[in-house]
Amino acid sequence: MTTTAPGVIGTPWSSSATQAVLLGGGEIGKEVAIALTRLGVEVTAIDRYDGAPAQHVAHNALTVDMSDPQALTAAIRSTGARIVIPEIEALATGALVALEEAGEVRVVPTARAARLTMDREGIRRLAAEELGLPTSPYVFASSPAELAAGAARVGYPCVVKPVMSSSGHGQSVLRGPGDLEAAWRYAATDSRVDRGRVIVEGFVEFDTEITLLTVRSRDAASGETVTSFCQPIGHRQVDGDYVESWQPQALPAGAQERAQEMARAVTTALGGWGLFGVELFVCGEEVLFSEVSPRPHDTGLVTMASQRLSEFELHARALLGLPVDTSLRSPGASAVVKATGESRPGQGVLFTGVDAALAVPGVDLRLFGKPVAHPGRRMGVAVATGPTVAVARQRARAAAQAVRVAH
Ligand code: AMP
Repeated sequence: MTTTAPGVIGTPWSSSATQAVLLGGGEIGKEVAIALTRLGVEVTAIDRYDGAPAQHVAHNALTVDMSDPQALTAAIRSTGARIVIPEIEALATGALVALEEAGEVRVVPTARAARLTMDREGIRRLAAEELGLPTSPYVFASSPAELAAGAARVGYPCVVKPVMSSSGHGQSVLRGPGDLEAAWRYAATDSRVDRGRVIVEGFVEFDTEITLLTVRSRDAASGETVTSFCQPIGHRQVDGDYVESWQPQALPAGAQERAQEMARAVTTALGGWGLFGVELFVCGEEVLFSEVSPRPHDTGLVTMASQRLSEFELHARALLGLPVDTSLRSPGASAVVKATGESRPGQGVLFTGVDAALAVPGVDLRLFGKPVAHPGRRMGVAVATGPTVAVARQRARAAAQAVRVAH
């Protein structure tokens, strides 16, 4: 009989197994799968294509269209897992809500969190309108005319993003009305699911943008859910996609406390157990809420070097109802390895310079094992420690640059 009681773990591939199913098997899912398997959990990784990174390390692998509610429900039921861990946003979240309401599974952190954070509108309305957190000014638009009116209201420069998108897909910065038409077209073609709806946000001239990893876990002594925070992670984005991150990022007096208050408010509203990536803009002492992922965050890859427990280990522990430790071990940094061209069909991907990368002191490397490369696709990451963040950043960058994705 499989159990999900805190503190009790069975044996994989046996009748006592503690089973979990990962919905999404990218680089984040792969590390979550490794963290769970180390704790003795039996993991099934589902992705939309064969050979996804997490499928390389999970006990079982399935390939399913997870935007199809029936296919998703059938796949989850077929695993027998009671714990469902979404690792991507584009899911048939209605099916997750139904399975959780029927008592068949526990969705991490909750099915409602997966549904609300699936699109930018759900989470922005929760944060800004229900919780009253400060954000950039924003409007939603469903047609070119609404976009023009919305941009005029928010003011220029502004940022347009499809509501169903992440990592900069379909996102553009508008300097004036002359940019409206191209922004609408780009958003419509690069949306994850074309719903023809965008958010228009005022452009924030931030000093720093941070990810505040926030963990909701069960306190072993009291049985109560408690909230803990990692040190802020600073990061640099190019075209809306993360290229470099570091920890800790120092904040002005007062800003760290405000950031934690905001992160506590939004994660408490989403509920459940697990790790969340709360994205915030810091402008002087002012902090604005941007987004939240109810799961490990790509900028948090740095924690594999900088923390005693990585964000993946924290997520695994928290979702199992186990105690966590968010302490920093050392200043650290991460730098991504991206492909610059297409891989040859059927030949996989070849990395060169791995020896040179690992010769950099304090460095470690993760090559994700994605079967196909496209220009700009994230294929690996270098993580580094150092006596200071500046040194760690230099090391991570040097290692990432040494690795080449051959074409
Ligand atoms: P997102 O997909 O919303 O996380 O956006 C990706 C990146 O684009 C962010 O990490 C920021 O660097 C930038 N960005 C997004 N929204 C804004 C904004 N309103 N003002 C300035 N920069 C933004």
